[in-house]
Amino acid sequence: MSGTPQEKRLCRYCSERQGGQQDAFVIVPGLECAVCSGLMDRTDATGELAVRRLRRYEFRTFAVGVTLPEGVQEREDELRSGLRLKGNETIKTQAARLVGSYMSRSTRKRLDKKNPDVTVLVNFGTGEVSVSSKPAFFYGRYTKPAGIAQRRSFCQLCRGSGCEKCGNTGYERRPSVEESLRKKLSGFSGSPKMVFTWLGSEDRESRVFPPGRPFIVEIKNPRKRKLPRRFGVRVRHRTLTVTAGRVLPSKPTRLPSFRFLTEIRAVAATKVDQKSLRELKSAFRRAAVTFQRPNNRPTTKTVYGVSAAAKGRALLIRAEIDGGLPVKRFVSGELVSPSVSEVLKTEVGCRSFDICRVREIGEIGFAEVTRSEEKN
Ligand SMILES: [Zn+2]
Ligand SMILES: [Zn+2]
Repeated sequence: MSGTPQEKRLCRYCSERQGGQQDAFVIVPGLECAVCSGLMDRTDATGELAVRRLRRYEFRTFAVGVTLPEGVQEREDELRSGLRLKGNETIKTQAARLVGSYMSRSTRKRLDKKNPDVTVLVNFGTGEVSVSSKPAFFYGRYTKPAGIAQRRSFCQLCRGSGCEKCGNTGYERRPSVEESLRKKLSGFSGSPKMVFTWLGSEDRESRVFPPGRPFIVEIKNPRKRKLPRRFGVRVRHRTLTVTAGRVLPSKPTRLPSFRFLTEIRAVAATKVDQKSLRELKSAFRRAAVTFQRPNNRPTTKTVYGVSAAAKGRALLIRAEIDGGLPVKRFVSGELVSPSVSEVLKTEVGCRSFDICRVREIGEIGFAEVTRSEEKN
């Protein structure tokens, strides 16, 4: 820029932003503005477009990000260095601020740059407005009837790549807690993208009784953030239920440990008498049990109590044990010591087991909780 006065033709937004000597500029309509070519006149219309885009989203706070067409920022920089102006905010900041303030007025929602529920990205070059929303972390407990696996598993034919048998999903068609919850929660939240974390697992044939097994699911880019406290899912004429549902304040950084009560149906190689059952009970009163984890260091878990009834070789065992100790191995003794087999001095095999009560030990940990999130 050479610096003759005629060349400092700016719209009122662009001139105000330079601060100081306003008489150095000629105020012109936006389209003639040497810096923005009318871009700053479009902030309200852009804000309105953003508000329309957000209509399907549930949010309390938002943020605005802006991309400028090529050359705009450079023209402002040149202007400032040519006139030795320090200027106030940059054109990018001002554009984002004006779009944001239009949106605040229109929606009465709060701007929160640090931790917004939704972020609006405005590209002033293409005119595109896109929305992304912060993930929702949903905590709940599920109960289930027998015959439903916890996780969906890969199609055995194609092993995940998708084929005719699995309808190109890559997953088995058999129902799972994961698939059922995914469908339901995607209906509630408006997003099918989610990642599950379970506090332990059980067999397909295991029943899970109230209060249920805890899980946390990260729902990505959700449109709705208010999710139900409880709901049921019909799975092949039976019902899977979720209770204690709540949206966590932020991403959990630490999960509680847990212990659970399980009811085990087992069969012994030889008949088990009452004396052996009493021995079983006394052997597992707050007993430390070692689990030689495959591909991992051995770990010690606690068995809090065991009671059992026998009918010939058939056993019904109730045991309260730490999460992470596999029930079947605790019975058979494979990689676990002491085990039910070891104490009864006969080979015992687990036929099936149910999860009767899961108790969390400790709290879910979070990295930081901001004030706006605590209201959740
Ligand atoms: Zn301008
Ligand atoms: Zn397949």
